Parts: sequence; C-alpha cells; structure tokens
Amino acid sequence: MTGALHLGFVNGYSPRWAGRLGAEVESALSMRVTPIELDLDIDAYYASDRGQFNSTMMLAGVLRRLPDPATRIVGITHVDLFIPVLTFVFGQAQLGGVAALVSTYRLRREFYGLPADEPNLVDRTVKEVVHEVGHTLGLVHCPDYSCVMHAATYVEDVDLKSRRFCRECQGLLSEPAPVGRANPY
Ligand SMILES: [Zn+2]
Ligand SMILES: [Zn+2]
Repeated sequence: MTGALHLGFVNGYSPRWAGRLGAEVESALSMRVTPIELDLDIDAYYASDRGQFNSTMMLAGVLRRLPDPATRIVGITHVDLFIPVLTFVFGQAQLGGVAALVSTYRLRREFYGLPADEPNLVDRTVKEVVHEVGHTLGLVHCPDYSCVMHAATYVEDVDLKSRRFCRECQGLLSEPAPVGRANPY
C-alpha cells in the first residue's frame, strides 16, 4: 500500500507504547505512519444517558483535523465509543474515505477483570487500526475469521484474527474503492 497515515492521539492520550503501535502499524500496512496530537471537543460527543461517547460524531471531528488531504488519519482514544444501534464499537471508519477512529477502552484486559497485558493491548490495537484503515481503503467485512477485515463482535475475535488482509481482501485493494455513505465499525 502506498500513502501516509497519521495516528492522532486524542486529547492528551499518550500511552507509553504509542511508538511501538506506530512502528507495528507501519509494518502491517506498509504505510508511513506519523503520530500527532489531536484536540477534539469530546464533551460534545458525550451521551450522558449511556455514559459513552458518540463514535460517529467523534469520527467527524477526527476528519476535520486531517492535516493533509493526501493522507489518512486514525484517531486513537481511550474513551468508550458507541453508535446508537450497538452497545459499543471498537472503532469506526469512513468507507472509502480518509478518516477512522479506534478506542482502546474495551481492548484492555482490565476491562474484563483480567490483569493488564501491554503486548496484548498493542496487538489488539494494531489489528483494529489496520481493520479501520481497511474500511477507508474500501474493504467491507470478511467472513474469513483470520482476516483482519473480519468483524469482531467480542474482543476474543480480535485475538483470533491476524493483522493481514486475506488473499481475497488483498485482491480487492487493487480495485477502485467504493465510497459508502455509511461508516462501518
Ligand atoms: Zn478478508
Ligand atoms: Zn469493520
């Protein structure tokens, strides 16, 4: 793949493994990755009835902060994201677009009452970033459970899949990306 990708850490989120995430995403996608700080008005996205943040609204905020139209951006946040029809989302993206969003909130083992596991958290975050970038490249969900474009309903699904696009998805990457009106998660 060609192109450049910004990883935009939202509102001071600064995990100590940010550098490793950038390096591993860079090698998984063969895209040049640049970390940036992203200041968003996240209070505006908070839904007090759910205690969560509206993912679609935050995605629009990420898009407005794209530093260069010839690049892509993935917002990285630690707050819990939702879209109205789902309990939560791990992330969301513009189909065939330039912006995406990933939350580490439910990727942390601590969320499930387990001890923290930093290598596992980095691995899960890499996969979710690659997945959302795949949507910006026009890919939809893939039935192959080992393909990074497989839809993860539970965090165990994230652990099961690889960081790679399967052969079929890889083949679709060379075709013109469909531009969708929906923002897949
Ligand atoms: Zn696939
Ligand atoms: Zn998806």
